[in-house]
Amino acid sequence: MFTTRYLNELPDTYSKVMPTPLPDPYWVGWNAELAEALQFPAQADDNLLAVLSGRALFQGHEPIAQKYAGHQFGGWNPELGDGRGLLLGEWQRPDGTVWEMHLKGAGKTPYSRFGDGRAVLRSSIREFLGSEAMHGLGIPTTRALALIGSREAVYRETVEPGAALLRVSESHIRFGHFEWFAFSSQVEKLSALIDFVIRHHYPEAATATDPVVALFKSVISRTATLIAGWQAYGYVHGVMNTDNMSILGETFDYGPYAFLDQTQLNAVFNHTDELGRYAFDQQPSVGLWNLQRLGQALSTVSDARALAECLAEYHDLYQQAYQRLMSKRLGARPGTVLTMAQINEWTQLLNSEQQDFHLKFRELSSTPLQDWVTLADDFVDRDRFKRWFADIQPQLDNDDQCRQEQMLAVNPATVARTHHLQAVIDAAHQQDFAPFESLFAALQSPFESRDEWVVWHRAPEHPASVSLSCSS
Ligand code: AMP
Ligand code: MG
Ligand code: MG
Repeated sequence: MFTTRYLNELPDTYSKVMPTPLPDPYWVGWNAELAEALQFPAQADDNLLAVLSGRALFQGHEPIAQKYAGHQFGGWNPELGDGRGLLLGEWQRPDGTVWEMHLKGAGKTPYSRFGDGRAVLRSSIREFLGSEAMHGLGIPTTRALALIGSREAVYRETVEPGAALLRVSESHIRFGHFEWFAFSSQVEKLSALIDFVIRHHYPEAATATDPVVALFKSVISRTATLIAGWQAYGYVHGVMNTDNMSILGETFDYGPYAFLDQTQLNAVFNHTDELGRYAFDQQPSVGLWNLQRLGQALSTVSDARALAECLAEYHDLYQQAYQRLMSKRLGARPGTVLTMAQINEWTQLLNSEQQDFHLKFRELSSTPLQDWVTLADDFVDRDRFKRWFADIQPQLDNDDQCRQEQMLAVNPATVARTHHLQAVIDAAHQQDFAPFESLFAALQSPFESRDEWVVWHRAPEHPASVSLSCSS
């Protein structure tokens, strides 16, 4: 059933807004597995299409646009909020957990500024598949339940078909929500927001001596773990503004993101990020910077010194999570963790030779230990590979079958590479959705080998017509 928890418990933190109907809607994507997990009884039929295209509402809920603010590329922007998305429903699963359904591309809101309130098919496909890929890899993320297209043209750098995506998460509260209520001196609303988040999402913080500090500690821990997942799997978020940081520590807002192809540790794919603020190797430190902004906002109602001290834990939490993931990916014996120096030598080796980030892990996974040395032949600097291998070998699981099974279970065969996504988008623009279905299925179980979309489908040297920017 639908509930109105957010609506009732956080009054005056949002605007009630009706969706603007999207003309000539048609189905593109339906996530039956997620619907089942949520015990959400809808199907990809005309009734749901009417809701997704803004012609009908979920029963028992009023759509709202949430107000927030945030730091974009380091600069404070108080003007943000749901500018093209609406919280359409709060779905309560029989076990009592509540799952927010947010319609992205629902039309203009009071926070649209100069935007048209719409989403394009290209970006919506990228979000749908990107978030399901992330889930498949076991990294916390918002999910995608449904995707529709429209014959209405939307104007971006070119004219593109419009779309709407139904995004699901237990919370759409961002760091930017706290920043807004703190910096606009709405202390009561800030407190209500914090209480809400503790009550429903971090109940263990409620009994701590200082619940706000306890909440902050948990958010630091989840954020550190999240970013460790991104670094271990070569994911570049692209626009880590504080309004795109989830209070639940989920990957949030799929815009100009990309998974690495050739390893380039300082890669930037968002063409508006001219200074490389959100480069791949900057993400861990940007995570800390964003947590500092959250801590500052929380300091309005809690002890600044105690909050500041929590930040000292971030680095170790991040590093431990990253080491654990990378040790598994590299085949370390269970319970053994490779050192940062050993892991960094591997990524530096891939980086210095521009080797494919994902393929190399997969190759290691399917090779018996005695043959690893032959993989040196893939490198120009063979001796460097051999030295690295000799260094880590004592820590590797020397039971070939166990190690290979374990490695194949954490090293994906299918990755949501930019050129794969672009192929799906090009076909969808011709009303051919078969590639979408095929890639979706592959990304749902990314560790299974498949003939199509396999990892060694390398990116073209000069990918045509792929331009990744924010807010499209
Ligand atoms: P993003 O770059 O996706 O994080 O979005 C930043 C801000 O711009 C948020 O407040 C969005 O709601 C808003 N926004 C993005 N795209 C649009 C659009 N097409 N129409 C209205 N607002 C938008
Ligand atoms: Mg955003
Ligand atoms: Mg966005």
